Amino acid sequence: MILEAINLTKRYKGLTAVDSFCLKIEPGIIRGLIGPNGAGKTTVFNLLTSLVQMTEGQITFLGQDITGKRPDEVAKLGLSRTFQNIRLFKKLTVLENVMVAAQIHKKYGFFSTVFGLPQFLREERAIKETSEHLLEVVGLAHLRDQQAKNLPYGDQRRLEIARALAVSPKLLLLDEPAAGMNPQESIELSEMIREIRQQFNLSILLIEHDMPFVMDLCEKIQVLNYGKLIAEGTPEEIRTNPDVIKAYLGRAASHA
Ligand code: ATP
Repeated sequence: MILEAINLTKRYKGLTAVDSFCLKIEPGIIRGLIGPNGAGKTTVFNLLTSLVQMTEGQITFLGQDITGKRPDEVAKLGLSRTFQNIRLFKKLTVLENVMVAAQIHKKYGFFSTVFGLPQFLREERAIKETSEHLLEVVGLAHLRDQQAKNLPYGDQRRLEIARALAVSPKLLLLDEPAAGMNPQESIELSEMIREIRQQFNLSILLIEHDMPFVMDLCEKIQVLNYGKLIAEGTPEEIRTNPDVIKAYLGRAASHA
């Protein structure tokens, strides 16, 4: 397994956002995590990437216990993510945004930087080349010198993916990558996600509300409701699962 999470639990005062959730991620798979609003999906991502501290549970990533590690340590080990609310450096250019993320593996520090030592310059060049390549992969090479804030929404989401790839992940978590995209953009995004899985030898876990997108792209899906796992299976099994249908219809009715 690439990642194994056991009994992940997050309690806030009086509310259990995630309740004894277990997850296994196989090499090379594209998995989906779905559920009605407030089901606990983003909290699962925050727990996996150490952005919030878990109440209980254990996470093993590439054979290593990463429970309680800092977010930057987790990222350095090869677990990276995008965010539901896009988090770009809005005033930096598209290329600079990717280069900043790629600095995470930098070997040479302050001294080499100040004196412009050859190893530093070589490393900077390598980071720039890698970042340019990643922009090509996500289809943004032609926009490299634009300020990130000027990109249309769909392109900002693609840039977030390039940034996540810049840390050389083994596992990529995508939080609502298709949000705000039109149907054509979603189809192109699916193709791109399959392509990066192949090219970078990745496993992918994604949260998404766009059901056609999830059903088409994911090989296995887990469903959360009120913090608990209520179903796991192939898209076909999930589509026809009575508990899943009830969870979605129940929430829809209570919001009507
Ligand atoms: P959505 O699909 O709407 O993004 P989600 O499935 O990602 O929802 P979470 O954002 O993980 O759901 O939230 C799960 C529950 O935990 C919600 O009831 C939410 O209000 C609650 N929650 C999340 N973060 C906090 C926090 N910092 N303090 C208190 N409650 C929180």
